[in-house]
Amino acid sequence: MKITDHVTNAKGKTLFSFELLPPVKGKSITDIYDAIDPLMEFNPPFIDVTYHREDYIYKQHDNGLLEKVSYRKRPGTVAICAAIMNKYKVDAVPHLICGGFTKEETENALIDLQFLGIDNVLVLRGDARHADSTFIPTPGGHAYATDLLGQVNDMNNGKYLFEDHSAFQTDFCIGVAGYPEKHFEAPNLKADFKYLKQKVDMGAEFIVTQMFFDNAKYCDFVAQCRANGINVPIIPGLKPITSSKQLISLPKIFHIDLPEDLTEAIQECKNEKDVKEVGIEWMIQQCKELIKVGAPVLHFYTMSNPEPTKRIARAVF
Ligand code: FAD
Repeated sequence: MKITDHVTNAKGKTLFSFELLPPVKGKSITDIYDAIDPLMEFNPPFIDVTYHREDYIYKQHDNGLLEKVSYRKRPGTVAICAAIMNKYKVDAVPHLICGGFTKEETENALIDLQFLGIDNVLVLRGDARHADSTFIPTPGGHAYATDLLGQVNDMNNGKYLFEDHSAFQTDFCIGVAGYPEKHFEAPNLKADFKYLKQKVDMGAEFIVTQMFFDNAKYCDFVAQCRANGINVPIIPGLKPITSSKQLISLPKIFHIDLPEDLTEAIQECKNEKDVKEVGIEWMIQQCKELIKVGAPVLHFYTMSNPEPTKRIARAVF
């Protein structure tokens, strides 16, 4: 079922969902099930699975020379989505990214998803490879989420890359990313909104936000979206702080601010166990407020560790 239908059918009740990362190569599908099983009691109507672009690694040869090779550490997104739908009978939402795909590979991936009965995709540009300082598009691929969205839209209208198949239109409900604190490359919020609006005008039917720790940022973002004519559901992305190291890593990786109160409370903790308690309690309060302001779904970035999310969901649902 489409995410938009799940939201409509909920009639204003806030839903619960979460995101998983494919396990690193060498791990099994049971790692995925172990990350899902503890959260099924909260009836997620959908589960997202991230997509990860290839990176470079250096392989040492017998003669000591190093060869730079392309390597995908976390493959399996499409297969994991199929496994989730098969085992749990809930919708799986694969993330689709520009990086690492030619347009033809994207077309073939979308055909696979259609055959698997997947109804939703989250369309993203994707992160830069770790070795690159900025995002470098794959030759023959897309540079921005809007470009990729255009291709999904075309297929939804039966327009394939080299031919029309009006009898075989896909029907994906398309989601996109939104940034309450601005995407780090956008010169300002106004410019970022311009592209977000473009994504929605092109047919994106829901937005999932970057994580945030101050609900005022989400509420302002929703208000600005509405003022800009963006009227689709805006799903808050949430992640509890679980370690003191995240005071540095989260702002660095996700380009977000942490509120002073939260930062100080964590700095005052005597040990990591207390840090986790503070992080979980903060998120419980955030979630309670978000339900009050009518967030359609609380969407957790579990990083495949279900335990903190389970505690939060138990406290708020
Ligand atoms: P875009 O919408 O393409 O925007 C990128 C930047 O370019 C922005 O600054 C925007 O303002 C600007 N821009 C947009 N369109 C244009 C245009 N036409 N011309 C000029 N400038 C433009 N990354 C992964 O690799 N895998 C994942 O699974 C993944 N999942 C995510 C899920 C969520 C909910 C979020 C919020 C992020 C996720 N990311 C993921 C990270 C995401 O890929 C990065 O934040 C990336 O840098 C931007 O992606 P985007 O889709 O927002 O890009």
